Amino acid sequence: MNHACTTTSDEGLEAIIEEILASESWDEASLDRIQRRHPKDGRGFFNKREILARFRARGRGDEALFSERLRTCPTRSVSGVLPVTVLTKPFPCPGRCVFCPSDVRMPKSYLSNEAVCQRAEANRFDPYLQAWGRLQAYRDMGHPTEKVELIVLGGTWSHYPVDYRRWFVKRLFEALNDFGAGRDRRDAVLRFAPDFRREAAAEAVRGKYNRHVGRVLREARESAAWERCAPSELERVQRENEGAVSRC
Ligand code: SF4
Repeated sequence: MNHACTTTSDEGLEAIIEEILASESWDEASLDRIQRRHPKDGRGFFNKREILARFRARGRGDEALFSERLRTCPTRSVSGVLPVTVLTKPFPCPGRCVFCPSDVRMPKSYLSNEAVCQRAEANRFDPYLQAWGRLQAYRDMGHPTEKVELIVLGGTWSHYPVDYRRWFVKRLFEALNDFGAGRDRRDAVLRFAPDFRREAAAEAVRGKYNRHVGRVLREARESAAWERCAPSELERVQRENEGAVSRC
């Protein structure tokens, strides 16, 4: 028997929430079954973000328990620590390793078809945008965001200027500090970040990675001026993070 029926958005979301709360047993397919029973105005299904947003708007109920049932991948935060992975910007590498990928839109050795790379590219490799956006995505999926493990990927870390490295870590701490405090300063970032997306596909510039990436960076001198941080400034935000809501 097909239980599916078409309802308004409000009715559909409410029905989904009530079923989730009322279910006595729960397995990996439970949510999928409930979503299919209450399609979205005849056009596909409500996603987890919509369901969680509606639940939060109700202003009642145990969000931690509810979120537990929505999580696609509960193991992400099963230890209570949320991994937030970010990428450094494309940067010339003195290495000459022949098998190393040379995708000029990416830090050396990374390929733009990986999910984490695409997220970084969409955020112009800015550490603040990447970390803040990732925390937001996790929170929207119902994960706790209090304890965070920052994972920095990218080209060879020691080849980046020390100013850039310090600034990168400082901005990660600032993203955590701001996110936990409900501050969103992402709008202040984009005008500084260089845009690597306009670069040609990797195939077009194979073997010329350093030249192409170096040119984009030279053209974006404004961002190089922005990517600086005194040691004392890094220490300050790191100390602030020790008492922040989202801690690393
Ligand atoms: S990123 Fe590493 S593997 Fe690739 S060229 Fe540089 S040193 Fe070699």
